[in-house]
Formats: sequence, structure tokens, C-alpha cells
Amino acid sequence: MRFSRTLIPTTREAPKSISDPAVARLTRAGYLIPDQEKKAFSLLPMGVLLCERVISAAAGLAREAGFHVVGFEDLAGDSLEISQKLVKSYRQLPLSFFGGDLRRWNASGFAADRDSAVAVRDDFLGIASEIARMAGLTLFEGETVDGARKYVSLPCDKGSWHGRSGFVCSSCGWCGDDASPVSAPRPFLKEEAPLGEVETPGADTIAELCRQLGVGPSGTLKTMFYAAESAGNKEIVAVLARGDHQINDRKLSHVLGGGVVRFADPLEIREAVGDLAGYLGPVGLPPAIRVFADRHVEGCCNLAAGANRPGFHLLNACWGRDFKTDNVEDIVSLQENFPCPLCGVEIKPSHLARVSIAGVEPGSSNLSFQGDGGSTRAAFRWDGSLCIMPLVLAIAGGERIPAKFTPFDVNVVIASMQNDDAVALGHSMAEKLEGKGLRVLIDDRDERAGVKFSDAELLCVPVTIVAGREAADGIVEVWQPDGSRGELPADAAVEQTARWVR
Ligand SMILES: [Zn+2]
Repeated sequence: MRFSRTLIPTTREAPKSISDPAVARLTRAGYLIPDQEKKAFSLLPMGVLLCERVISAAAGLAREAGFHVVGFEDLAGDSLEISQKLVKSYRQLPLSFFGGDLRRWNASGFAADRDSAVAVRDDFLGIASEIARMAGLTLFEGETVDGARKYVSLPCDKGSWHGRSGFVCSSCGWCGDDASPVSAPRPFLKEEAPLGEVETPGADTIAELCRQLGVGPSGTLKTMFYAAESAGNKEIVAVLARGDHQINDRKLSHVLGGGVVRFADPLEIREAVGDLAGYLGPVGLPPAIRVFADRHVEGCCNLAAGANRPGFHLLNACWGRDFKTDNVEDIVSLQENFPCPLCGVEIKPSHLARVSIAGVEPGSSNLSFQGDGGSTRAAFRWDGSLCIMPLVLAIAGGERIPAKFTPFDVNVVIASMQNDDAVALGHSMAEKLEGKGLRVLIDDRDERAGVKFSDAELLCVPVTIVAGREAADGIVEVWQPDGSRGELPADAAVEQTARWVR
């Protein structure tokens, strides 16, 4: 490809406002034009080539795994329609499709039973993991709050455009966000002290309560009232959590059947229990109110809790003796010091970009087939998506773009278009390199040599060959993938480059 005819607007500096280092780097190298405000970018020719390399690797892995790589407009809908036409018997399953555009690839398929649907789903997630491995990146594996979908995420630099905050376990490769499942906590055994009541004027926050009583937040219990709304019905529920934990709306919504949940407003609380905001407690709540307790609360004793009496708190409230509920659920947000749900090692905060997510639906899909014994059965459906952009940014965010994914293998720089020997040698080398199957960029712009050299440094092409002053003698300068530079006769440079690229 000729540089002079390709849009590669390199710049010395990316705009200062660009927060993502990978985006800044690709902006400087002329791969894309960013829009900081929208956290989006337009791909330029080099950016398209980079995405195509990643997609080509993904499609290759998918074909190897038995997926049909297709060009459907609506992958989920068309997969069903086409499978309905084609599938008659269990022998034709599993049937899996994979297709997409430059930014996102979707996958969808059908299997005869749940286990094989799960196996194909995992193969699909494995495609992202394998690309990450090729690029020297590590992917972490997580699941959604309801456990219905699994995903793989990349830890990425703070501020990365496709990321959001989450947690990783560097010991076992688990990842998640604040709504991920928390591992079952160990109840701590303490001797139960007698229940008491203490005056706590103005202590309507956990912080003030701790200050007045001289206890830590983990020794307190908060009682929060939530309104759960779904299908036009509203229920006010009480939620108990330890004072050092945060109640998670997504988890609570899941526990309550998926509707909208929000803090109950003061009027709703007053209607339910009276004017008690800040002093609500678990003991003596009206029986009509459903009470949900986070799992960390079960079995706890000697907690400070609201006394359901303005200006007063209870001391030494104990689970079982003073309060209890059968609704014990995982309700609080994951936080920094929590143990990993899989292995128990302390999790660390990280910025995560979700690369691939997939789930399996039960065998109620609209695809039926004839089973082993001749009876008609419904296929299990699975679906997933692979986000190309976070993968591309992660791949481009390191020191060098791995050679496997660079838009070109070699950049042939003609140092001066006024030097006829350099022009002739540059073109003949480009031809020979292309003849060896390499992807060649030839810098034939009528620019100063200095401009071309600094652009060559920005472009992230593994090998650069400069046809310059010594072109008349058939000598070129070669910049090797490891960064070292030296002179070589032109033919030797061609051979050597082909070896490096393989
Ligand atoms: Zn772990």
C-alpha cells in the first residue's frame, strides 16, 4: 500500500484531553480520530486494518472450533430462522454461527442438550481468551449477578474508554464488578451480651453512631427501607446489612424478582413504621413488612442497631435471639477487602473492559428437532458477543503492537523522492517483499526524510527498511522488530525481514 495515497494523519502529540493511553497512541499514529466527549472514535484506514487483523484471528479460531462464520444482518434472528429451515435431527446439532462488523461480533447457536450448549458457549469465550493470549494479555473470567451469563474481561488502564471499575483476583483469574456474587461469609462467634438501649442524639448516620459509641462500622447494623416496584405493584421492604457494607440495587432487584428498586421516601417509611428515619432497626418491625438480610448479617451478634425510637439505638442486638428472618440473601456490593468468591484470596480493584459475554437459555427455544429416540424436543439456545474495540485497544496499549496484529509487516521508506536510486530500490524491494507474502507499506510521499522517519517510529510496523543515501550501492538501513538498527544489502534485508515476520 502506498503511503502517499493512504489517509494516515500522524501527529506529534495526541490532544491532551484524551484519557485513554491506547487511544492517544493510535491517534498519534494516524489510526483513528478520537472524540473525547463521546468517548468514541472514527477508524481510519490503519485502524480498520488493525481491527481486521483481530477479526481475522477470531474468525480463524471460530472456524477451527466448528463455528460457521457468516454474514447475517441480524445474527440472532437469522440464526434461528435458518436453523428452523435446516435442522431436522439431533445429528445436525450443535449448530453455531459467528458474524459481525468491525466493532462487534456476535455468536448464536443451538444444541441438543444443556451440556453441549454450555460447551459451545465456553468455546466461544475461549476465542477471546486465545486472542488475548496471542497478544500477551491476560483475561479474567466472571459471571453476571444472576449467574445466567459468563464473561471474560481485560484489566485495562484507568480511564480506558471501554472499561468500568471492577475487581480481579490475581490468584485464580476471577473477575467481577460490585454486583458480582460474594462468597459465603464465615459467621464470627462471639459471646452474646445482654440487649440494651442507649440514647444517641443526632446519630442518624453510621459514622456519627460509631463516633458516639466508639465502635467500628462492622459492629453496626443498618436497616434500610426500599420500595420495590414491578407490574404496577409496590412493596416496601426492610433490608439489613452490616454498617461497613453497601446494599447493591442490582442484587436487591434480582432477589426481589427483577423489578425496579429504590430507597423508600420519608412518606413511605412514615406510612410503614412511623417517623423513624435514621433510627430504624430490626427488632420489633411490623410483621407485615418483609425483611431481607444480607448473608453477612446472619449469625452476627452484639451489633449496634436502630431502636425504632428516635434518638435511641440498641446495643448487642443478636441474630436469632433479638431478630431473624428467613430471607437471607447476597445483597451487598463487592468491595476491596472481600475474599475472592472462588479461591478466597483478597480481591483487588481494577478497571475492566468486558471483551466477551455469553449465556445459555433453557431448552425452550423456538427450534425443535427429532431426538435420539424419535421424540420431538426443543433445542437449547446460546448466544454471545465479542467486543472487538476493547481488545484492539488493549492490544495497541502495550509497548509495541504484537506483530500478529499490526496492519503491515514492513514499512519501506524512500528517504528522498529526489534520489532516483532510492526510489527505484524502494519500489523493487517492496515488490520482492510482497512476492514473499508480506504486507508492505511503502512511504513514497514527497516529504523530508526526518518527517518520514518520525512517522515510521509512530506507525508500529514491526520492520522498517530505509532506502536512502547508499541506495546506489544496493545498501539499505533496517530497523528490526527488537528496535536495533543496521545496514544490509537489499536482498539480504528482504530475506531477513521474511524470517522475522514468520
Ligand atoms: Zn480467586
